[in-house]
Amino acid sequence: MKTTQLTILGSTGSIGLSTLDVVARQPERFRVHALTAHRNVERMREQCLRHAPDVAVMVDADAADALRTALAASGSRTQVRAGSEALAEVARAPQVDAVMAAIVGGAGLLPTLAAAEAGKRVLLANKEALVMSGALLMDAVRRSGACLLPIDSEHNAIFQCLPNGYVCAEPVTPHGARRIWLTASGGPFRDRPLDSFAGITPDEACAHPNWEMGRKISVDSATMMNKGLEVIEACWLFAVPPATIQVVLHPQSIVHSMVAYDDGSVLAQLGNPDMRTPIAHALAWPERMESGVEPLDLLTMGRLEFSEPEAARFPALGLAYQALERGGTATAVLNAANEVAVEAFLAERLAFSEIPVVIAATLDAIEAEPVDSLERVLSADRKARAIAGEQVANARQVVS
Ligand code: NAD
Ligand code: MG
Repeated sequence: MKTTQLTILGSTGSIGLSTLDVVARQPERFRVHALTAHRNVERMREQCLRHAPDVAVMVDADAADALRTALAASGSRTQVRAGSEALAEVARAPQVDAVMAAIVGGAGLLPTLAAAEAGKRVLLANKEALVMSGALLMDAVRRSGACLLPIDSEHNAIFQCLPNGYVCAEPVTPHGARRIWLTASGGPFRDRPLDSFAGITPDEACAHPNWEMGRKISVDSATMMNKGLEVIEACWLFAVPPATIQVVLHPQSIVHSMVAYDDGSVLAQLGNPDMRTPIAHALAWPERMESGVEPLDLLTMGRLEFSEPEAARFPALGLAYQALERGGTATAVLNAANEVAVEAFLAERLAFSEIPVVIAATLDAIEAEPVDSLERVLSADRKARAIAGEQVANARQVVS
């Protein structure tokens, strides 16, 4: 079997760690070409010593210097590079077969695009790239013949429930799906009294009942903006209109999503909530391989429940549908405003209940334009960040 050479963008994060855990179980099958991180030197040092990549990229220049010194002292041969340009370079390097796109937020867009343009197998965890510029990313995949495989657990589940041979980004794929059921756990505040939302702390928001994830996506899960971003992601990945997708609350996170067909069949993918399953699925596809995940025990798993999410509890979900309806750059605006608001909330500069307020005001302030170039997307992103920043400052005055 040919060894797959892998670049992991965002290797020090939650998805990066799970990916390395899966890869380490199959040393004859995978080799790590490059690892990348923002500035976590200690974790990157450990990863370099354990996985011996050819290249390690630290976006932060001081962190790159510190890593270089630490690795030299350990006799490592890994070449250390600095800056965000290097992210795209290790994503498109000719010897690389597959790229795990697991940087959080809009920072993941350019290197993910680079991997798609270079025709790699793109394992897409970074949903923000599709939300910002689904049109450009899918176009790049089509033109280069890249293989795009979803890592987000719901989208990976949907992919597994679509007919064999379904290819993301092929121009016409009549897969006959009548409805896609996108499951959502409802996060930590599913039952919390609504009048206490203003006092929610970052640690409360990051304590997800079923999944262990990075802080940004944990807050997104608590507001359910994560599900909103996932609705947008699903529209692009599976070439369906928003009305085909129905979000359903499923607190146990055992059914990762479902596809309903014209004949009345509903196909579901089930498993324990552990990201190593979708990661191993996409790494091995179309084969299957060991992931380290405990098998699901149907006899002990208990009840599976499904219900409709309350609109008043999760206004962020409605905002995502609104942005989809406006189309063009509106979803990039939604994403940028959300990133700014979540960052401010995590830094205790914004109340939890103000997150959707900031996003709604930013969406209303910027006219959607067609996504015909990367520049257009980046300019909408910049504009939205500036306006959301002002909204945060104003909201803060009201809060304090
Ligand atoms: P995380 O915060 O744990 O890790 C993020 C990684 O990105 C880190 O390696 C960090 O160094 C890097 N990074 C952060 N800012 C950067 C920047 N400006 N430039 C370059 N690199 C930067 O995040 P995560 O939970 O692993 O999530 C990663 C992505 O996967 C997100 O887009 C998230 O929505 C998606 N995702 C995560 C999960 C999950 O279970 N964690 C599930 C589905 C989808
Ligand atoms: Mg998900």
